[in-house]
Amino acid sequence: MTDPEWTQKFQITTRNLKHGDSWRLEFDENLLDNGQQPGWKKCIVNTGARFRCTKCSRGWSSNKVMVVCHMQLRNGKGIVKVRPSHQKCKECSEAPMEKPSIPSDNIFILLKNLVEKIRIKCYNEDLGRNKKHFRSFDGNKPHEPSHCEACMKGFCPRNRS
Ligand SMILES: [Zn+2]
Ligand SMILES: [Zn+2]
Repeated sequence: MTDPEWTQKFQITTRNLKHGDSWRLEFDENLLDNGQQPGWKKCIVNTGARFRCTKCSRGWSSNKVMVVCHMQLRNGKGIVKVRPSHQKCKECSEAPMEKPSIPSDNIFILLKNLVEKIRIKCYNEDLGRNKKHFRSFDGNKPHEPSHCEACMKGFCPRNRS
């Protein structure tokens, strides 16, 4: 599965990777934090996004959306599979897990951070660039581990604010 907005931004951010290598981005709903295939590298990129409950249509935002990324470079062709973590409404019982809606500027920032990881993990290049911080949503609502898929599966950095 692909998304035109992500694909276009990914093309821009991977433009300056090693000349001649082509990179492609895909969404993979089955991607897990652990259990990558042999030869694949992984990273997790944190971003901020909004959610909407499909049951009661309540909206909320979160700064703990974890995008799991698996990447592989082989014969000049790179592929990245991504899956942003889901969350569910805390007001509804048996609420479904919802996909985040990540704003454009945050998609760009998370892809830039992802490309820095590709440089380090697939090209052994560490340019020492600082991680760019995504635009956070305001509010000091506590994070709800029982409504966060990343927490349930153990890859949400609970100790970081
Ligand atoms: Zn709800
Ligand atoms: Zn969490």
